[in-house]
Amino acid sequence: MCVFCKIAAGEIPCTKVYEDEHVLAFLDINPVTQGHTLIIPKKHADDFTQCPSYLVARMHGIARKLAKHYDGILKPNGYHFLSNAKTAAGQSVFHVHFHLIPRYDATDGLDFAFRGTERHKLDPATQKKLHL
Ligand code: 5GP
Ligand code: ZN
Repeated sequence: MCVFCKIAAGEIPCTKVYEDEHVLAFLDINPVTQGHTLIIPKKHADDFTQCPSYLVARMHGIARKLAKHYDGILKPNGYHFLSNAKTAAGQSVFHVHFHLIPRYDATDGLDFAFRGTERHKLDPATQKKLHL
């Protein structure tokens, strides 16, 4: 059983902030900002590419509710809602989870920025191929 399955089964303690039949949300043990929260399905899937869409939608719904709730308590100025899939993307626990990360300001401790460059631009033929 993976670590998040153990948390979902109550075998490893966590600081729960939400629970229903299918989804659990709890505070990250090593928070990158105050209120850093993980939202998981109780049923194991390795990452979001493997997780059924209805569960992803449900986790998104919970993230929205939690964000609204946190707004009144932690008073952040924004949020990240993201999921790392596979080692190359930084995934370290291989049970799908979404991070809900409150953001306060540029000095809140999280250095996260998209720095786009020309060298990542795809040639037109490849761009065309990407259309599903
Ligand atoms: P990833 O790197 O896979 O996107 O994120 C995994 C997250 O899970 C990390 O932020 C890490 O701190 C958190 N984490 C790992 N093990 C535990 C645990 O046992 N309890 C809690 N609450 N968080 C955990
Ligand atoms: Zn699991």
